Amino acid sequence: MQRTLSIIKPDGVAKGLIGEVIKVFESAGFKIAAMKMKQLSRSEAEGFYYVHMERPFFGELIDFMVTGPVVLMVLEGEDVISRNREIMGATDPAEAREGTIRARWAESKQNNIVHGSDSEESAAFEIAHFFSGIEIF
Ligand code: ATP
Ligand code: MG
Repeated sequence: MQRTLSIIKPDGVAKGLIGEVIKVFESAGFKIAAMKMKQLSRSEAEGFYYVHMERPFFGELIDFMVTGPVVLMVLEGEDVISRNREIMGATDPAEAREGTIRARWAESKQNNIVHGSDSEESAAFEIAHFFSGIEIF
């Protein structure tokens, strides 16, 4: 059994897609082990995306991530890290496979509705960034 961190980004929340995205996850058989809605501070967003600190889009990415509340979730299931990445689709919606969350609803490479951890190592870091043990069921 594996866990991953999922975020419905500010664009997904603003577009009224919380229910749609959760439905996709539950239909895929993922268990929602934790969930909360939160307005990220700049430092929380910067800490979360620290691996991208040197990338040219970092400043704009942080600006975007604090434009409104996000929904943070811990998803649990077999191979949930890679299965969630499949279901999300490619970072750039123009390259995302048909039927994926990003193909259906994302606007751009940056405003792409969801985040999903990309490895066991990043999942462990990202889950601990936002949830304590007693918040995960
Ligand atoms: P995420 O980490 O959010 O799940 P990802 O793993 O598909 O997405 P990363 O390469 O980790 O993509 O980039 C993190 C986020 O930074 C992207 O989801 C997107 O919001 C933004 N981003 C990535 N590349 C670009 C880019 N070239 N221009 C603008 N924003 C970008
Ligand atoms: Mg990533």
